Amino acid sequence: MTSSLLHIPPPQRLLQPLALPERLMLGPGPSNVPPRILAASGRQLLGHMHPEMLQVMDEIKAGIQYAFQTQNQLTLAISGTGHCAMEAALLNLLEQGDTVLVAINGIWGQRAAEIARRLGANVHELLKPPGDYFALQDIEEGLAQHKPSVLFITHGESSTGVLQPLEGLGNLCHRYGCLLLVDAVASLGGAPIFMDQQEIDVLYSGSQKVLNVPPGSAPISFSQRAWYHHTAPTNSFFSLREGLSMLAELGLESSWERHRASCAQLCQGLRDMGLELFVKEEKARLPTITTVRVPEGYDCKEITAFLMDNHGIEIAGGLGPSAGKVLRIGLMGCNSTSENVTRVLRALREALRHCPRCRL
Ligand code: PMP
Repeated sequence: MTSSLLHIPPPQRLLQPLALPERLMLGPGPSNVPPRILAASGRQLLGHMHPEMLQVMDEIKAGIQYAFQTQNQLTLAISGTGHCAMEAALLNLLEQGDTVLVAINGIWGQRAAEIARRLGANVHELLKPPGDYFALQDIEEGLAQHKPSVLFITHGESSTGVLQPLEGLGNLCHRYGCLLLVDAVASLGGAPIFMDQQEIDVLYSGSQKVLNVPPGSAPISFSQRAWYHHTAPTNSFFSLREGLSMLAELGLESSWERHRASCAQLCQGLRDMGLELFVKEEKARLPTITTVRVPEGYDCKEITAFLMDNHGIEIAGGLGPSAGKVLRIGLMGCNSTSENVTRVLRALREALRHCPRCRL
Protein backbone atom coordinates (compact mmCIF):
# COMPACT_ATOMS: atom_id res chain seq x y z
CA MET A 1 0.00 0.00 0.00
CA THR A 2 1.31 3.45 -0.88
CA SER A 3 0.79 5.99 1.83
CA SER A 4 -0.97 9.09 0.56
CA LEU A 5 0.51 12.55 0.84
CA LEU A 6 -2.97 13.96 1.20
CA HIS A 7 -4.26 14.87 4.62
CA ILE A 8 -7.77 15.34 3.38
CA PRO A 9 -9.34 12.40 1.55
CA PRO A 10 -11.82 12.81 -1.32
CA PRO A 11 -15.22 13.56 0.23
CA GLN A 12 -17.36 10.41 0.24
CA ARG A 13 -20.42 12.31 -0.86
CA LEU A 14 -18.73 13.60 -4.00
CA LEU A 15 -18.07 10.02 -5.03
CA GLN A 16 -21.86 9.48 -5.27
CA PRO A 17 -23.94 10.71 -8.24
CA LEU A 18 -25.68 14.09 -7.94
CA ALA A 19 -29.10 13.55 -6.37
CA LEU A 20 -31.76 16.23 -6.76
CA PRO A 21 -35.51 16.17 -5.98
CA GLU A 22 -38.39 17.33 -8.21
CA ARG A 23 -40.00 20.50 -6.84
CA LEU A 24 -42.69 22.97 -7.83
CA MET A 25 -41.05 26.33 -7.12
CA LEU A 26 -43.81 28.75 -6.19
CA GLY A 27 -41.75 31.02 -3.96
CA PRO A 28 -40.43 34.48 -4.88
CA GLY A 29 -37.84 32.88 -7.20
CA PRO A 30 -36.09 31.02 -8.62
CA SER A 31 -38.99 29.43 -10.46
CA ASN A 32 -38.99 26.20 -12.48
CA VAL A 33 -36.98 26.21 -15.71
CA PRO A 34 -38.59 24.80 -18.90
CA PRO A 35 -36.66 22.00 -20.68
CA ARG A 36 -35.80 24.21 -23.68
CA ILE A 37 -33.97 26.68 -21.43
CA LEU A 38 -32.25 23.91 -19.42
CA ALA A 39 -31.09 22.31 -22.67
CA ALA A 40 -29.59 25.60 -23.86
CA SER A 41 -27.34 25.89 -20.80
CA GLY A 42 -26.23 22.26 -21.25
CA ARG A 43 -24.82 22.92 -24.73
CA GLN A 44 -21.07 22.74 -25.40
CA LEU A 45 -19.17 25.96 -24.61
CA LEU A 46 -18.09 28.56 -27.13
CA GLY A 47 -15.33 31.06 -26.53
CA HIS A 48 -16.84 34.23 -25.11
CA MET A 49 -15.42 36.24 -28.03
CA HIS A 50 -16.32 33.78 -30.81
CA PRO A 51 -18.49 35.33 -33.51
CA GLU A 52 -21.40 32.98 -32.75
CA MET A 53 -21.24 34.04 -29.10
CA LEU A 54 -21.25 37.70 -30.11
CA GLN A 55 -24.35 36.95 -32.14
CA VAL A 56 -26.03 35.36 -29.10
CA MET A 57 -25.18 38.54 -27.17
CA ASP A 58 -26.74 40.66 -29.91
CA GLU A 59 -29.85 38.51 -29.72
CA ILE A 60 -29.94 38.94 -25.94
CA LYS A 61 -29.62 42.69 -26.41
CA ALA A 62 -32.56 42.70 -28.83
CA GLY A 63 -34.57 40.52 -26.42
CA ILE A 64 -33.91 42.88 -23.51
CA GLN A 65 -34.77 45.92 -25.67
CA TYR A 66 -38.10 44.22 -26.40
CA ALA A 67 -38.77 43.16 -22.78
CA PHE A 68 -37.87 46.67 -21.49
CA GLN A 69 -39.46 48.46 -24.48
CA THR A 70 -36.36 50.56 -25.10
CA GLN A 71 -34.12 51.55 -27.97
CA ASN A 72 -31.14 52.20 -25.68
CA GLN A 73 -27.89 51.01 -27.26
CA LEU A 74 -26.31 50.31 -23.87
CA THR A 75 -28.52 47.31 -23.19
CA LEU A 76 -26.84 44.09 -22.08
CA ALA A 77 -26.75 41.14 -19.69
CA ILE A 78 -24.72 41.50 -16.51
CA SER A 79 -22.71 38.39 -15.60
CA GLY A 80 -24.35 37.92 -12.24
CA THR A 81 -27.72 37.84 -10.49
CA GLY A 82 -30.22 40.69 -10.08
CA HIS A 83 -28.29 41.90 -7.08
CA CYS A 84 -25.16 42.33 -9.24
CA ALA A 85 -27.23 44.43 -11.63
CA MET A 86 -28.35 46.59 -8.70
CA GLU A 87 -24.73 47.08 -7.66
CA ALA A 88 -23.63 47.77 -11.25
CA ALA A 89 -26.37 50.38 -11.69
CA LEU A 90 -25.54 52.20 -8.45
CA LEU A 91 -21.78 51.99 -9.03
CA ASN A 92 -22.15 53.50 -12.49
CA LEU A 93 -24.46 56.30 -11.39
CA LEU A 94 -22.98 57.37 -8.06
CA GLU A 95 -19.69 58.81 -6.92
CA GLN A 96 -18.57 59.75 -3.45
CA GLY A 97 -20.55 62.74 -2.23
CA ASP A 98 -23.37 62.44 -4.79
CA THR A 99 -26.86 62.73 -3.38
CA VAL A 100 -29.28 59.85 -3.94
CA LEU A 101 -32.90 59.54 -2.89
CA VAL A 102 -33.99 55.97 -2.20
CA ALA A 103 -37.68 55.08 -2.04
CA ILE A 104 -38.01 52.39 0.63
CA ASN A 105 -41.18 50.34 1.11
CA GLY A 106 -39.53 46.94 1.54
CA ILE A 107 -36.16 45.21 1.59
CA TRP A 108 -34.93 46.18 -1.89
CA GLY A 109 -34.90 49.91 -1.19
CA GLN A 110 -33.09 49.17 2.08
CA ARG A 111 -30.52 47.16 0.14
CA ALA A 112 -30.00 49.90 -2.46
CA ALA A 113 -29.56 52.52 0.29
CA GLU A 114 -26.95 50.31 1.96
CA ILE A 115 -24.97 49.87 -1.27
CA ALA A 116 -25.17 53.61 -2.01
CA ARG A 117 -23.85 54.41 1.49
CA ARG A 118 -20.91 52.04 0.92
CA LEU A 119 -20.17 53.94 -2.29
CA GLY A 120 -19.87 57.08 -0.20
CA ALA A 121 -23.05 58.69 -1.51
CA ASN A 122 -25.13 61.06 0.51
CA VAL A 123 -28.25 58.88 0.96
CA HIS A 124 -31.73 60.18 1.77
CA GLU A 125 -34.47 57.67 2.46
CA LEU A 126 -38.08 58.22 1.46
CA LEU A 127 -40.12 55.83 3.58
CA LYS A 128 -43.51 54.14 3.20
CA PRO A 129 -44.86 51.30 5.31
CA PRO A 130 -44.43 47.82 3.78
CA GLY A 131 -47.56 47.13 1.68
CA ASP A 132 -47.85 50.74 0.42
CA TYR A 133 -46.55 52.38 -2.74
CA PHE A 134 -45.31 55.92 -3.48
CA ALA A 135 -47.59 58.59 -4.97
CA LEU A 136 -46.05 61.14 -7.35
CA GLN A 137 -46.54 63.77 -4.68
CA ASP A 138 -44.44 61.81 -2.14
CA ILE A 139 -41.64 61.63 -4.69
CA GLU A 140 -41.92 65.29 -5.65
CA GLU A 141 -41.59 66.36 -2.00
CA GLY A 142 -38.43 64.23 -1.67
CA LEU A 143 -36.94 65.62 -4.89
CA ALA A 144 -37.68 69.22 -3.90
CA GLN A 145 -36.24 68.77 -0.41
CA HIS A 146 -33.08 66.77 -1.16
CA LYS A 147 -32.23 67.67 -4.78
CA PRO A 148 -30.73 64.22 -5.53
CA SER A 149 -28.88 63.30 -8.72
CA VAL A 150 -30.47 59.82 -8.70
CA LEU A 151 -33.80 58.40 -7.50
CA PHE A 152 -33.94 54.64 -6.81
CA ILE A 153 -37.33 52.92 -6.79
CA THR A 154 -38.51 49.29 -6.91
CA HIS A 155 -41.20 48.45 -9.49
CA GLY A 156 -42.05 45.04 -8.02
CA GLU A 157 -41.31 44.91 -4.27
CA SER A 158 -41.00 41.14 -3.88
CA SER A 159 -40.68 41.35 -0.08
CA THR A 160 -44.14 42.88 0.28
CA GLY A 161 -45.91 42.09 -3.02
CA VAL A 162 -46.38 45.74 -4.03
CA LEU A 163 -46.43 47.00 -7.61
CA GLN A 164 -45.16 50.61 -7.85
CA PRO A 165 -46.85 52.79 -10.51
CA LEU A 166 -44.22 54.33 -12.79
CA GLU A 167 -46.34 56.78 -14.79
CA GLY A 168 -45.01 60.31 -14.69
CA LEU A 169 -42.02 59.43 -12.46
CA GLY A 170 -39.33 59.84 -15.12
CA ASN A 171 -40.70 63.15 -16.28
CA LEU A 172 -40.92 64.38 -12.68
CA CYS A 173 -37.33 63.32 -11.92
CA HIS A 174 -36.01 65.07 -15.03
CA ARG A 175 -37.78 68.30 -14.10
CA TYR A 176 -35.70 68.20 -10.90
CA GLY A 177 -32.46 67.32 -12.76
CA CYS A 178 -32.48 63.80 -11.33
CA LEU A 179 -31.96 60.41 -13.03
CA LEU A 180 -34.50 57.63 -12.49
CA LEU A 181 -33.17 54.15 -11.57
CA VAL A 182 -35.77 51.36 -11.44
CA ASP A 183 -35.44 47.79 -10.06
CA ALA A 184 -37.65 45.47 -12.11
CA VAL A 185 -36.19 42.15 -10.93
CA ALA A 186 -39.53 40.84 -9.71
CA SER A 187 -41.83 42.53 -12.23
CA LEU A 188 -40.29 42.20 -15.72
CA GLY A 189 -42.64 40.26 -18.00
CA GLY A 190 -45.32 40.16 -15.29
CA ALA A 191 -46.38 43.82 -15.28
CA PRO A 192 -46.12 46.55 -17.97
CA ILE A 193 -42.90 48.57 -18.16
CA PHE A 194 -42.15 51.00 -21.00
CA MET A 195 -38.60 52.18 -20.36
CA ASP A 196 -38.44 54.82 -23.12
CA GLN A 197 -41.98 56.18 -22.77
CA GLN A 198 -41.68 56.27 -18.98
CA GLU A 199 -38.33 58.06 -19.30
CA ILE A 200 -36.48 55.58 -17.06
CA ASP A 201 -32.72 56.21 -17.14
CA VAL A 202 -31.47 52.89 -15.80
CA LEU A 203 -33.57 49.74 -15.60
CA TYR A 204 -32.44 46.28 -14.51
CA SER A 205 -33.98 42.91 -13.87
CA GLY A 206 -32.97 39.32 -13.10
CA SER A 207 -33.27 36.01 -14.89
CA GLN A 208 -34.73 33.68 -12.29
CA LYS A 209 -38.31 35.00 -12.08
CA VAL A 210 -40.69 35.47 -15.06
CA LEU A 211 -37.96 34.61 -17.58
CA ASN A 212 -37.58 31.15 -15.94
CA VAL A 213 -33.81 31.24 -16.56
CA PRO A 214 -31.37 29.92 -13.90
CA PRO A 215 -29.97 32.74 -11.72
CA GLY A 216 -26.67 34.17 -12.95
CA SER A 217 -27.38 36.68 -15.70
CA ALA A 218 -29.26 39.96 -15.37
CA PRO A 219 -30.72 42.27 -18.04
CA ILE A 220 -29.81 45.94 -17.67
CA SER A 221 -30.19 49.04 -19.82
CA PHE A 222 -28.63 52.51 -19.49
CA SER A 223 -29.51 55.64 -21.36
CA GLN A 224 -25.69 56.23 -21.57
CA ARG A 225 -22.23 55.32 -20.02
CA ALA A 226 -19.53 52.63 -20.51
CA TRP A 227 -18.73 49.03 -19.52
CA TYR A 228 -15.75 46.67 -18.86
CA HIS A 229 -14.42 43.60 -20.70
CA HIS A 230 -14.57 40.25 -18.86
CA THR A 231 -15.07 36.53 -19.59
CA ALA A 232 -18.79 36.24 -20.11
CA PRO A 233 -20.61 33.22 -18.61
CA THR A 234 -21.38 31.75 -22.02
CA ASN A 235 -23.83 29.03 -21.02
CA SER A 236 -25.82 31.31 -18.73
CA PHE A 237 -26.16 33.52 -21.78
CA PHE A 238 -27.42 30.61 -23.90
CA SER A 239 -30.22 30.05 -21.39
CA LEU A 240 -30.94 33.79 -21.09
CA ARG A 241 -31.20 33.96 -24.88
CA GLU A 242 -33.74 31.14 -24.81
CA GLY A 243 -35.72 32.74 -21.96
CA LEU A 244 -35.92 36.02 -23.86
CA SER A 245 -36.79 34.13 -27.03
CA MET A 246 -39.69 32.38 -25.27
CA LEU A 247 -40.93 35.73 -23.93
CA ALA A 248 -40.73 37.23 -27.43
CA GLU A 249 -42.66 34.26 -28.87
CA LEU A 250 -45.38 34.53 -26.21
CA GLY A 251 -45.47 38.34 -26.52
CA LEU A 252 -45.23 40.82 -23.65
CA GLU A 253 -48.96 41.59 -23.61
CA SER A 254 -49.88 37.89 -23.34
CA SER A 255 -47.28 37.47 -20.59
CA TRP A 256 -48.70 40.41 -18.61
CA GLU A 257 -52.23 39.06 -19.08
CA ARG A 258 -51.23 35.56 -18.03
CA HIS A 259 -49.67 36.84 -14.79
CA ARG A 260 -52.65 39.10 -14.11
CA ALA A 261 -55.13 36.22 -14.57
CA SER A 262 -53.22 33.72 -12.39
CA CYS A 263 -52.75 36.33 -9.68
CA ALA A 264 -56.48 37.20 -9.73
CA GLN A 265 -57.42 33.51 -9.46
CA LEU A 266 -54.97 33.01 -6.59
CA CYS A 267 -56.18 36.10 -4.69
CA GLN A 268 -59.80 34.98 -5.05
CA GLY A 269 -58.93 31.49 -3.78
CA LEU A 270 -57.02 32.90 -0.80
CA ARG A 271 -59.93 35.18 0.10
CA ASP A 272 -62.37 32.26 -0.23
CA MET A 273 -60.26 30.44 2.39
CA GLY A 274 -60.80 33.35 4.76
CA LEU A 275 -57.24 34.64 4.38
CA GLU A 276 -56.31 38.32 4.24
CA LEU A 277 -54.25 39.71 1.36
CA PHE A 278 -51.36 41.88 2.58
CA VAL A 279 -51.66 44.52 -0.17
CA LYS A 280 -55.08 46.12 0.20
CA GLU A 281 -55.49 47.91 -3.14
CA GLU A 282 -55.96 45.49 -6.02
CA LYS A 283 -54.11 47.68 -8.52
CA ALA A 284 -51.08 47.84 -6.19
CA ARG A 285 -50.68 44.04 -6.14
CA LEU A 286 -47.61 42.65 -7.88
CA PRO A 287 -48.93 40.05 -10.38
CA THR A 288 -45.85 37.81 -10.02
CA ILE A 289 -45.63 37.49 -6.22
CA THR A 290 -48.67 37.53 -3.96
CA THR A 291 -48.40 38.24 -0.25
CA VAL A 292 -50.99 36.95 2.20
CA ARG A 293 -51.04 37.54 5.95
CA VAL A 294 -50.09 34.58 8.13
CA PRO A 295 -53.36 33.89 9.92
CA GLU A 296 -53.56 34.48 13.65
CA GLY A 297 -52.19 31.55 15.66
CA TYR A 298 -50.08 30.04 12.85
CA ASP A 299 -46.33 29.95 12.36
CA CYS A 300 -45.39 30.64 8.75
CA LYS A 301 -42.36 28.30 8.95
CA GLU A 302 -44.66 25.38 9.80
CA ILE A 303 -46.87 26.17 6.80
CA THR A 304 -43.99 26.46 4.34
CA ALA A 305 -42.40 23.26 5.74
CA PHE A 306 -45.73 21.41 5.40
CA LEU A 307 -46.04 22.36 1.72
CA MET A 308 -42.46 21.36 1.03
CA ASP A 309 -42.55 18.05 2.93
CA ASN A 310 -45.98 16.88 1.86
CA HIS A 311 -46.44 18.40 -1.60
CA GLY A 312 -42.94 19.19 -2.87
CA ILE A 313 -44.11 22.80 -3.30
CA GLU A 314 -41.99 25.76 -2.31
CA ILE A 315 -43.64 28.92 -1.05
CA ALA A 316 -41.88 31.45 1.17
CA GLY A 317 -42.33 33.45 4.33
CA GLY A 318 -41.76 37.20 4.47
CA LEU A 319 -38.44 38.99 4.06
CA GLY A 320 -37.08 42.06 5.83
CA PRO A 321 -40.00 44.21 6.98
CA SER A 322 -42.56 41.51 6.10
CA ALA A 323 -40.71 38.67 7.92
CA GLY A 324 -43.03 36.57 10.06
CA LYS A 325 -46.09 38.48 8.82
CA VAL A 326 -46.74 37.10 5.35
CA LEU A 327 -46.54 34.11 3.08
CA ARG A 328 -45.21 34.84 -0.42
CA ILE A 329 -46.52 32.83 -3.36
CA GLY A 330 -44.80 33.29 -6.71
CA LEU A 331 -46.48 32.42 -10.01
CA MET A 332 -43.87 33.32 -12.58
CA GLY A 333 -43.34 32.51 -16.23
CA CYS A 334 -44.19 28.87 -16.97
CA ASN A 335 -45.32 28.46 -13.34
CA SER A 336 -48.07 31.05 -13.80
CA THR A 337 -50.88 28.61 -14.65
CA SER A 338 -54.40 27.93 -13.43
CA GLU A 339 -53.36 24.37 -12.56
CA ASN A 340 -50.58 25.60 -10.26
CA VAL A 341 -53.00 28.00 -8.56
CA THR A 342 -55.32 25.07 -7.84
CA ARG A 343 -52.39 22.97 -6.59
CA VAL A 344 -50.99 25.55 -4.23
CA LEU A 345 -54.44 26.46 -2.86
CA ARG A 346 -55.23 22.80 -2.19
CA ALA A 347 -51.88 22.31 -0.44
CA LEU A 348 -52.33 25.47 1.60
CA ARG A 349 -55.84 24.45 2.69
CA GLU A 350 -54.43 21.14 3.88
CA ALA A 351 -51.57 22.89 5.68
CA LEU A 352 -53.98 25.11 7.56
CA ARG A 353 -55.93 22.04 8.65
CA HIS A 354 -52.85 20.10 9.76
CA CYS A 355 -50.49 22.65 11.26
CA PRO A 356 -50.49 22.37 15.03
CA ARG A 357 -52.06 25.65 15.99
CA CYS A 358 -54.99 24.96 13.67
CA ARG A 359 -57.79 27.54 13.75
CA LEU A 360 -59.67 27.41 10.44
N1 PMP B 1 -34.62 43.17 -6.48
C1 PMP B 1 -35.80 42.53 -6.30
C2 PMP B 1 -37.07 43.31 -6.38
C3 PMP B 1 -35.82 41.15 -6.08
O1 PMP B 1 -36.99 40.52 -5.90
C4 PMP B 1 -34.59 40.42 -6.04
C5 PMP B 1 -34.56 38.92 -5.82
N2 PMP B 1 -35.50 38.40 -4.98
C6 PMP B 1 -33.39 41.14 -6.23
C7 PMP B 1 -33.46 42.50 -6.45
C8 PMP B 1 -32.06 40.46 -6.20
O2 PMP B 1 -31.95 39.58 -7.26
P1 PMP B 1 -31.06 38.23 -7.16
O3 PMP B 1 -31.61 37.44 -6.01
O4 PMP B 1 -31.27 37.59 -8.49
O5 PMP B 1 -29.66 38.64 -6.92
